[in-house]
Amino acid sequence: MMDEPYGYYEFADNDELPLDFADAPEDFDEDPDEAALSVLRHYWGYDAFRPMQAEIIRSVLNGHDTIGLLPTGGGKSITFQVPAMILPGLTVVVTPLISLMKDQVDSLMKRGIRSACIHTGMTRSELNLSMERCRQGRVKILYVAPERLGRPSFLGFMQTLEPSLFVVDEAHCISQWGYDFRPSYLKIATLRDYFPDVPFLALTASATPEVVDDIVRRLEMRNENRYSLSFTRTNISFIVRRTDNKFQMLQRVLTTTAGSAIVYVRSRKRTREIADYLQGVGVSASYYHAGLERHEKSERQDQWQNDQVRVMVATTAFGMGIDKPDVRLVVHFDVPSTLEEYYQEAGRAGRDGHPSLAVLLAADTDKALFGRRLAEAFPSREYIAKVYDETCRFLSVPMGEGFGALYEFRPEIMCERYRMALRPTLGALGILGRSGYAEFTDEIDNASRVMILVTREELYSQHLDDAQEAVMQTLLRNYGGLFTDFINIDEIVIARKCGLTPEEVYVALTGMRREHIIEFVPRNRTSYLYFTANRCPSEQLTYPREVYADRKAAMEHRLGAMKNFIFDDSRCRVRGMLEYFGEKPEGDCGTCDVCRARRTATQFDPAEFERKLDGFFAAIAPATRLDMRSILPHFPRHRAEASRHIASMLSDGRLRLTGEIYLEKGE
Ligand code: ADP
Ligand code: MG
Repeated sequence: MMDEPYGYYEFADNDELPLDFADAPEDFDEDPDEAALSVLRHYWGYDAFRPMQAEIIRSVLNGHDTIGLLPTGGGKSITFQVPAMILPGLTVVVTPLISLMKDQVDSLMKRGIRSACIHTGMTRSELNLSMERCRQGRVKILYVAPERLGRPSFLGFMQTLEPSLFVVDEAHCISQWGYDFRPSYLKIATLRDYFPDVPFLALTASATPEVVDDIVRRLEMRNENRYSLSFTRTNISFIVRRTDNKFQMLQRVLTTTAGSAIVYVRSRKRTREIADYLQGVGVSASYYHAGLERHEKSERQDQWQNDQVRVMVATTAFGMGIDKPDVRLVVHFDVPSTLEEYYQEAGRAGRDGHPSLAVLLAADTDKALFGRRLAEAFPSREYIAKVYDETCRFLSVPMGEGFGALYEFRPEIMCERYRMALRPTLGALGILGRSGYAEFTDEIDNASRVMILVTREELYSQHLDDAQEAVMQTLLRNYGGLFTDFINIDEIVIARKCGLTPEEVYVALTGMRREHIIEFVPRNRTSYLYFTANRCPSEQLTYPREVYADRKAAMEHRLGAMKNFIFDDSRCRVRGMLEYFGEKPEGDCGTCDVCRARRTATQFDPAEFERKLDGFFAAIAPATRLDMRSILPHFPRHRAEASRHIASMLSDGRLRLTGEIYLEKGE
């Protein structure tokens, strides 16, 4: 039996997996639409496709290069996972975030879909294992981190396989003009050279027209087929609240609304401060950021997901990979930098179609932030040169050397030691990377690893305490290959399986390490610097126009659009946002704070109210029951009139009350 790294132990062997549909493609000579639907039902148990999914899948199955633009939560993954199960061979998915990659693989394996991943945080033996499984045809979906793509060894490996589809998830990362450009994404195009006939599917939730053009160009897409859903989210009201006291305003927003909420802030420290404040004023709240221990994260996420906690105060690390349909309110405590980010985060509200609010808190002093953020992302040339020199000094890279070297590198430690500011330093590192000197990679989350140092026979004669015994038994039962190699483990899973807390598992593992029974490397987070050129004197550094000047202009444009969204009170906020994303909205949204303010002068308009109500019902369709509590916050200045009008519609039968709080349309 092969050793399966983390997550795979749920299946003792692949024999337990249901047969892949792709093992018998002749079943699907019929209609590809039928095939797609039965795969969806078989593996996911969903009844129907969501808007645009079927169109994208059809285009992919017809072998066309395809672009799918669906909002966050729109169900982009299904658009490649379903074809992967119908097409012969392998589907290769490029995706930027390693943590999400692991989650996806785990959840696919649970559905009986053979998948694997390849990224920098894996050990050599894990990599070999993933590659071997691919070669044997035991993998249908392979997730790959973009930085692997440039490597000859990886391309050599790919040539031993038969890929049928390349997927570029978060495809906006390929665009220099996008808000989240990742240089390693440019390497994706090499796949085209090696596999000219394999179709590409590019997916993203946020792309302006320029970014879409860039995706088409960079991926050399032929007869490109574009499928998009409008960015319009009619059930979300976008509200900007200007205030000098954000705490008080936040409290007011939360106490006048009901239902699950997320409050986004930009600093980890603040997540806790604000959660404490909210608890102090009687609002149920917790906090979340990427620096928490894994078990803390999953605990808090669960509590919020199960409505034991109402408000999650979080950095933007919270939300990716979370799938809660009934979030009624997303508040931004700090102003975001771009509409792309804002739309993506605010869009986590109201996935169930019910009326929801996106509230952005802004102080007048926030206006100055935009200039500061630009200066931090694009520091002066002198400052970049200084960062280069200091980094080389910090890592002891000799002049004229360094090419190809990979260093573990924590900029925050360097900044503390040399008294430099962190953000402009990160900005400078980004520019150095794009200019071809040294690439800085995000934090990579390395799982804990264990290897057993004694033989199986020796193990029986060891004296272990109860907890150690339980942990050892669980390890042996759930992970293979422990006697010969480091194997990634998950303390939380082990804790659950043997009824201990994660801390107790940790103590047991370190105890056994002290006794030299096992080697144990606790999980850690590291970031790396990879030198793509030898160190040169910093006077010789040059920054190509498209890396510095052009990109700076593009960022200025994005920041400007965000600033207008917040501070221009003369036009409908949603209209401005949709135009930014390249749409031509037909009218004003009628629900943002600007549109609402225009109406305040006016009386409560029953016809208008009923039109809005119809809109809410349309948004939840095919469901028919609308939560009454979520309606009134949309008419803050006419609450009384609105509820009186609902009462009259109930009495004349145009609405029906079902349950205590749900409305349905009458006859
Ligand atoms: P995106 O990548 O577009 O943000 P995901 O692919 O993560 O969205 O999907 C969001 C959620 O929607 C997932 O929980 C997924 O299982 C669910 N989903 C996707 N398609 C369907 C469908 N046709 N029916 C029901 N649920 C779906
Ligand atoms: Mg996605």
